[in-house]
Amino acid sequence: MIVNMSDSATAEQIEHIIQRIREAGFQPHVTRGTERTIVAAVGSGGRRHEIEALSVAPGVDNVVAIAQPFKLVSRQTRPHPSVVNVRGVKIGGPEVVVIAGPCSVESREQLLETAHGVKQAGATMLRGGAYKPRTSPYEFQGLGIEALKILREARELTGLPVVTEVMSTEDVDLICEYADMLQVGARNMQNFALLRRLATAKKPILLKRGPSASVKEWLLAAEYLLSGGNDQVALCERGIKTFETGMRNTFDLAAIALAKELSHLPVVADPSHGTGKQSLIGPVSRAAIAVGADAIIVEVHPCPERALSDGPQSLDLAQFERVMRSLSSPLRAVLTPARA
Ligand code: PEP
Ligand code: MN
Repeated sequence: MIVNMSDSATAEQIEHIIQRIREAGFQPHVTRGTERTIVAAVGSGGRRHEIEALSVAPGVDNVVAIAQPFKLVSRQTRPHPSVVNVRGVKIGGPEVVVIAGPCSVESREQLLETAHGVKQAGATMLRGGAYKPRTSPYEFQGLGIEALKILREARELTGLPVVTEVMSTEDVDLICEYADMLQVGARNMQNFALLRRLATAKKPILLKRGPSASVKEWLLAAEYLLSGGNDQVALCERGIKTFETGMRNTFDLAAIALAKELSHLPVVADPSHGTGKQSLIGPVSRAAIAVGADAIIVEVHPCPERALSDGPQSLDLAQFERVMRSLSSPLRAVLTPARA
């Protein structure tokens, strides 16, 4: 349930509603907007009729049910877009953020060359996997802590904040020491133990959509993070499984627009995993930005043919630079919807 306060509600009246929501057996979540305050009553087992009755309490404009199963990620609870701040880089603000880097950190040289190159081309965040979710146990599994140290060095040298994947609750504290944003990979979108643990982490989260998850399931996974206390969450569309065999996945452009419509959370587009093809990264990035993506995340490798993971979808530095130039062409201004 949502209690919409009137624009003239006083601090005492808002506090009273918060108290009453607790008494009714729900958790209150307050969103203070520029015009008015919204107090959401979330949780299960509370007494709904007591919340409904608050419509006549002083300072209350109206009380409405939240139409969707996800509550705190819903636009009903927070009508204005959220901004996720990753060490000063704002995902969800007026600028489209570009996150770039290799699928996996393979060596110090490989990562530093990539980090300097993508920065030069205009990227504002660095990606790189240290713990890799590989389909086969015989494939490269990542350098672990060694990769985390290299990522930290790259951040120190370039100033680019770093995002890297966390696969297990056991690694959360360690990765938080080194990275600026933690990625929940597609295969772990419904790892509820991991989501619950990350809800208490003091770092922003990049939540990838599962390869066969509906938009509703994706938003409910984000709800675990927000309801547990972490509202610094960016969603990431990375393609889903369909009957199509010409691409690694089917990049679901409309899901970006739908997620933005249903939720205030920023959305990141991953055309690398979404298509699996170098040649499609540019066009799909432009399309994603046109439908409202707040950021793109692109795999870049100094020599894709030698990459230990995801070479076929990785751009070399010259290709990445060309894609970057195509994003800042005047067409982008025409295509990009108002980001307010
Ligand atoms: C990755 O980012 O390299 C990765 C493994 O992504 P996903 O979880 O989307 O497959
Ligand atoms: Mn990858």
